Amino acid sequence: MSQPNNPSPEELQQRLQDFLRRAMEGGGSGFAPQMEPEAEEGDEPPTEKKDAKVFDFPYTPKNIKAHLDRFVIKQDEAKKVLSIAVCDHYNAVRAANQKLAESETPPPYTKQNIIMLGPTGVGKTYLIKCLAELIGVPMVKADATKFTETGYVGGDVEDLVRDLVNQADGDAELAQYGIIYIDEIDKLAAPPNQQGGRDVSGRGVQTNLLKLMEDTDVPMRSQTDLQSQLQAAMEFQRRGGKYHKETISTRYILFIVSGAFEKLPEMVEKRLNRGEIGFKPEPTDLKEPEEILTEVATRDFIDYGLEPEFIGRLPVRVACNHLKVEDLFDIMQNSEGSLIRQYEAAFQAYGIEAMFTDDGLQAIAEQAAEEKTGARGLATVCERALRHFKFELPGSGIRQLVVNGEVVAKPDAE
Ligand code: ADP
Repeated sequence: MSQPNNPSPEELQQRLQDFLRRAMEGGGSGFAPQMEPEAEEGDEPPTEKKDAKVFDFPYTPKNIKAHLDRFVIKQDEAKKVLSIAVCDHYNAVRAANQKLAESETPPPYTKQNIIMLGPTGVGKTYLIKCLAELIGVPMVKADATKFTETGYVGGDVEDLVRDLVNQADGDAELAQYGIIYIDEIDKLAAPPNQQGGRDVSGRGVQTNLLKLMEDTDVPMRSQTDLQSQLQAAMEFQRRGGKYHKETISTRYILFIVSGAFEKLPEMVEKRLNRGEIGFKPEPTDLKEPEEILTEVATRDFIDYGLEPEFIGRLPVRVACNHLKVEDLFDIMQNSEGSLIRQYEAAFQAYGIEAMFTDDGLQAIAEQAAEEKTGARGLATVCERALRHFKFELPGSGIRQLVVNGEVVAKPDAE
């Protein structure tokens, strides 16, 4: 049997275009983004523009911090800085929308994009998630390491904006006020002293992100994804050949980036000590890394390997602290999102009452701190300690499980 030649992507695209053109009986010339004329005001479905929400934002920084306090333990300074930045941002958005509603030009606005520093598992993502939930905007998270400069030539970072629309259940209007959170941003830093070196890919990604952080219009449909092109064309047809708003503006999308920046405290300290080579502080002078990071300056980030334009677009800086044993204890006992509630519910599903004593929680906190993964260590330790009980107790007739220090120390013995 003779195998037909596999068509090249270009041929495939051409065939699809021809097919769609025929299917639409001359109603358009192919794929939506290509066929889209300069969208005129009159082309918009009337409901979408006229009903555009004037963004309602009733919070003060104190309201926001109080909400974060319910879920996130410690990180007080981070909570304050974030609350202020978020209030400034959404108040500016609301004011701009009001101006637009009155057919006036909104004043120029410098966005309060945020960079968060701090180790893994200390609540950076959790803070942003709680914020987005309170405000009622969609949020997407991605790791900076998944982007390549060339991969899709920038299309990759634009997917973040399209993901926001998905998160908002297709509400493109709401997506324009969403939050994009990018972790591991320190991995994009070109190693210091490698000026003009070959490792430019991180720099390229920074440049792509930079464009996104400014005021850019991102196509609703990825230009490199045939399926979404097809979908766009079908929607076009369904709407009886009416053009639809096909781009999302990033003007009011809030960007928050974060990273561990492990070497940064050392660099800041060196600078503060006027960069004296070989200077070794006396042990009494040693400060916690978080304390040093309160003094971080733009030039430290540049020395670290971030592009000046990139760090320049991130005016709000927040440092998150390491979590100590007592903080981990506090998280289990007081955070509304505590893992312990989850375990109680899991046992409850079999009619078993799980009770965690203080020394049980203390033992979990101590073991978790040794994992050095922040609050993530709690999940590891609980899983290890309670795995056998989760298997053995359901259906055994036992109605109560007391998780004390001994159970945590020697789950097998119990
Ligand atoms: P990261 O700092 O790496 O972004 P996360 O915010 O994702 O860490 O934390 C992982 C999980 O650990 C969270 O989903 C949350 O359940 C818990 N957690 C981390 N830090 C805190 C904290 N400060 N208070 C309460 N829970 C926390």
